Amino acid sequence: MQRIVLHHTAGGLKPTAFDKQHYHRLVDGDGEVQAGLHPISANAPGRQLTAGRYAAHTRGLNTGSIGVSMACMANAQWHDPRACKAFPTPVQVEAMIAEVARLCRAYSIPVDRRTVLSHAEVQTTLGIAQAGKWDFDYDPFGILDSRDPVRIGDMLRDRISAALGDVEPQAPRGPMPVIRRGSKGEAVAMAQRALGLAADGIFGPATETAVVAFQRKHELLPDGIVGRATWAALNLEN
Ligand SMILES: [Zn+2]
Repeated sequence: MQRIVLHHTAGGLKPTAFDKQHYHRLVDGDGEVQAGLHPISANAPGRQLTAGRYAAHTRGLNTGSIGVSMACMANAQWHDPRACKAFPTPVQVEAMIAEVARLCRAYSIPVDRRTVLSHAEVQTTLGIAQAGKWDFDYDPFGILDSRDPVRIGDMLRDRISAALGDVEPQAPRGPMPVIRRGSKGEAVAMAQRALGLAADGIFGPATETAVVAFQRKHELLPDGIVGRATWAALNLEN
């Protein structure tokens, strides 16, 4: 197999029988990964694609492509994806990242823009028209404000690469901000990941407790505020 294309089903947080016809892997809202109806080999290069006998997930790009989808985004509105009742859960996105990393290893697929990409990147990056598919021109973690699918894809690829153990997650450009209780956003999520917490991007009491414990362990001032010294100790300085 040559690549993996990432999708959302535009359904609820549990996959349906219909979804299983169209994707090789489905990740539900609880982070469970289910196999689709068709084996990955049904989309292998050199195989004849007969309707109903392979996973048809990406127009003009099914041969050689593994389709992985999160069951989510039922009735989502493009202009406000986070308002969707079936917005992907953090555990679901993490499970997708882990499953894609596993598939990359199993099929020796490199993690780059042309080989691990979201459906929304296919038209931009590979030039194959996809009729306005927007999975994912939004950050499925609900943190990044960007609607640029390649930027979102780069973030997911960093996470997939990290899951493979090849590289560490990339720090954002520019100095890391000072974050403390009440802070929100990607820097908070990065600190949470480094601390082994669920990365919801919201610096609440549990994050503060974990920061203080980390600071004590590393003989830093245990003030619960992540500044330059604490970022450095988390190996996220730049
Ligand atoms: Zn799709």
